[in-house]
Formats: sequence, C-alpha cells, structure tokens
Amino acid sequence: MADERAERIAEFVSPLRVGPGTEVRLPEDFDPAHKAGISKKKDGVELLRSGIELLADYQRRLAAQDVYGVLVCLQALDAGGKDGTIRHVMSGVNPQGVRVAGFKVPSQEELDHDYLWRYSRELPRRGEIGIFNRSHYEEVLVVRVHPENLRRQKLPLAARGPDVWERRYREINDWERYLTDNGFRIVKLFLNLSKEEQRVRFLKRIDVPERNWKFSPADVRERARWDDYQRAFSQMLSATSTEWAPWYVIPADRKWFARLCAAAVLAHTLIDIDPQYPQVSDQTRHELAEVRRDLEREAPEGAPADPYAASVAESAKEKKSKKSKNKKNKKNKKNKP
Ligand code: ATP
Ligand code: MG
Repeated sequence: MADERAERIAEFVSPLRVGPGTEVRLPEDFDPAHKAGISKKKDGVELLRSGIELLADYQRRLAAQDVYGVLVCLQALDAGGKDGTIRHVMSGVNPQGVRVAGFKVPSQEELDHDYLWRYSRELPRRGEIGIFNRSHYEEVLVVRVHPENLRRQKLPLAARGPDVWERRYREINDWERYLTDNGFRIVKLFLNLSKEEQRVRFLKRIDVPERNWKFSPADVRERARWDDYQRAFSQMLSATSTEWAPWYVIPADRKWFARLCAAAVLAHTLIDIDPQYPQVSDQTRHELAEVRRDLEREAPEGAPADPYAASVAESAKEKKSKKSKNKKNKKNKKNKP
C-alpha cells in the first residue's frame, strides 16, 4: 500500500476522532453537515468506490492471517443511516468474512445475564470484521434516557446506584481494552445526524409507501427526547473515547459523506493492523514445486503446461510493449517541429 494513500486516509479521519480525555458537547462540537472540502457528491462517491476496493483487499489479508479481528460499533439516532452505511461500506467485501449483529430491546434470557453478555456472544472471530448495528453503548444511551430499562435489568441494589453510568463507562473501557489486548480492534462510529435532517428523513419514510415499514411511532417519541440523547451521547463520547478504542463522530446529514467517512475509518484501522498473507516454509515451497511438476506433466497435448503462469507472462509482455510504444510516441511528438 502506498504510504501516501495511508497518510491521506489518516489525515481525512483525524478531525473525526474524539481525542481521549476531551469533553464533547453536542451539537456544538461536531457539525452534522460537514463535508471536509469534498464539494461534489460525485467526487465523494468515486472516493468511496476506491475505498471499498481497498477494504476488500485488506479483509482478504485479515482472513488469511487469522490473528486479528475487527469490531465495528455503529451508533446513531433513528434514521441516522446505520443500515445504508453497512450496505455500502461492506459491499465489496467477501460476505464470509463479515458478521453483522443488531441489538434491540433485550429478551428475558438476555436480562437474566450481565449486561455485556449478549454483546460478547456476537463478537467477531479472528480474521473477521464484525459489525454491531447498535451495540453495548445502548447500555449507557437508551438505558440512561429511559431508566425503566435499568430497572428491568434485575441488578443488585449496589449496582444501580447513582454512580451506575460512571461504572459502566469504566467497565466498557476495560472490556474493550481486554479485547484489544487479545487481538480484536474496535472501531466506534457515531453517525451524527441533525434534528432537521431527521425530520426530513422521517417525513420521507411516511410519504413513500415502500418506506412506511421503516417508520415507527416510537421513533417520534424518541425524537421528543432529542436533547436528553444529545447529552447522553456527549457524556458517552467524552468518557469512552480511549487510546485503544477511540470514537469517531461521522457527519451524517449527507449519506454519501457518512459512508465515505465510515469506509475511511475502517480502512485506517486495517492499514494500522497491516495483516499479511501467511508465508509458507521452505519445506512447503519445495513440496509445492514438486506438485507443480507433476501437474504440468498431466497437461493435455497442445495445452500450456501451466496456463496461469503462461497468462501472467503474456500480460507482462503486453504491458512492456505498450510502455515502449508510448515512449516512442512521446519521443516522436517531442521531435516534431
Ligand atoms: P431501524 O433504524 O431500521 O429502525 P433500529 O436499530 O432502530 O433499526 P428498531 O427495532 O427500530 O431497530 O429499534 C430497536 C430499539 O431497541 C431501539 O429503540 C433501541 O434503543 C432499543 N434497544 C437496543 N438496546 C437496548 C437495551 N439494551 N435496552 C433497551 N432498549 C434497547
Ligand atoms: Mg428504529
């Protein structure tokens, strides 16, 4: 990978990152309509396309190496664009290497366990990219905004005192540290939507019959708690953006830009992991050479002994002759009066 490209991606994602220890105040600190100097959607879509190709390449290496796993946590208010982000960003990646888990209101069985239990059951394996569509952060968001959720969790008295949120932040940070130390990198994305853009998207879900199913009256009830959610998100971002698992606040009012940012943050993480294809030993290489000789001997009459090697040699030859033709043309042009 060209270092220049890695540097450009690092530069692009840097302003989205919440520095560990900074106090975030939403909506003031992050503009949901920001688009980082990319004025045209066309340019953004083109960049996303090349980002998707890069992700596919890195994911193949991640799977082959089978040492690291990546967990992407997506949080947003309703209509923030989580589903579309997953669909677009992961569109070029081999589905076998990705697992997506969504988290809704917890079931009775889930409430019968500690609050992180259901999330730990859905973690990616080594070599996989796991996506949490909503995540363990619901435990300090919806559960905080609606305390009846906490009451349902059957916690002992000492575990639901006034320090419950501070404690949960610490427990979540520790859990993420533990996962990181064990080879699982965590990418946390908050799709930051404005209240006005949410209104527009809700109306579209009502106006377009094919989108009606996406709208629930509960969404409007949650919208009424907008300020409480902004506060809960601000405190969560301030307390749980760590060196090992930082938060990225993604401007989400333009879907194309949000998708580009999400792809860039994921690419940045994979570049940092830099997974490598496993190298085979000299012994294995020797065995492979022997098998190749046997297979070449089996070639039917008239067929190349090794069609793959022949096609590689052929395209290298074509490339070389094209290059020298271009060189000649350039020289001729130069020499013309
Ligand atoms: P969409 O964007 O398509 O509507 P969604 O993620 O909002 O998808 P829904 O079924 O509409 O899915 O909503 C799931 C609901 O479950 C959300 O309101 C969310 O806040 C809630 N939820 C998630 N985790 C918890 C939790 N631990 N306790 C209580 N509620 C939770
Ligand atoms: Mg919903």
